[in-house]
Amino acid sequence: MHVLLIEDDPLVASGIRTGLITFDFVVDHVSTLKAARQALKTVSSDVVILDRGLPDGDGLQLLAEWRDQGIDVPVLVLTARDAVRDRVDGLQGGADDYLVKPFDLDELVARLHALLRRAAGRSSGIITHGALALDPTAREVYVNEQLIMLSRREIVLLEAFLQSPRSVLSADQLKDSLYGMNDDVASNVLNVHIHHLRRKLGSGVIETVRGLGYRLGKPEAVHVAGTPFKGQL
Ligand code: CA
Repeated sequence: MHVLLIEDDPLVASGIRTGLITFDFVVDHVSTLKAARQALKTVSSDVVILDRGLPDGDGLQLLAEWRDQGIDVPVLVLTARDAVRDRVDGLQGGADDYLVKPFDLDELVARLHALLRRAAGRSSGIITHGALALDPTAREVYVNEQLIMLSRREIVLLEAFLQSPRSVLSADQLKDSLYGMNDDVASNVLNVHIHHLRRKLGSGVIETVRGLGYRLGKPEAVHVAGTPFKGQL
């Protein structure tokens, strides 16, 4: 999952970034409103962490602009201000959640997962698709309750498909979920990851949509091995 982190305090930013990377988030960090406007145009972010006190203004200004433009990316506002008034302003300004500094990394991760889950319209933390189940917090994938060995990037890619089960995702969108703005990405890397997912989870698990991109295959296309899936983990 791709996070856009908008935070001007270098220590706080590097702490969040390092922490989120250990949870397999791809993190792009910017420290001004100006850079954030540009970043959201350049890469598709799944969720935004937004500081309020930024060198060129209040983060809520940017949030208001995005909501006016119909940009509905989930936004978690992060701030040292803990006055009730500030929280109310944030939520009324279109924030999806609010976290007051200092905060615990586990709490931030839990809240990000909750935002992503709500954005995808799911009520449970485990994402299922036929015999397939992905636990976003534990970073584990099961088929029929059997743990499948996938690489970190394969899990991230599969998660992107599972978050948007009915959408065709372009190669660029998928690369954005795997890599940061400044990462060097080989042109065939996406094909390689998709190849591996098909080999491990069944050739129909990801469908190619000619000229447009890829989409998640039908639930029954997931390769089934072992006992029938009981829907519980
Ligand atoms: Ca700040």
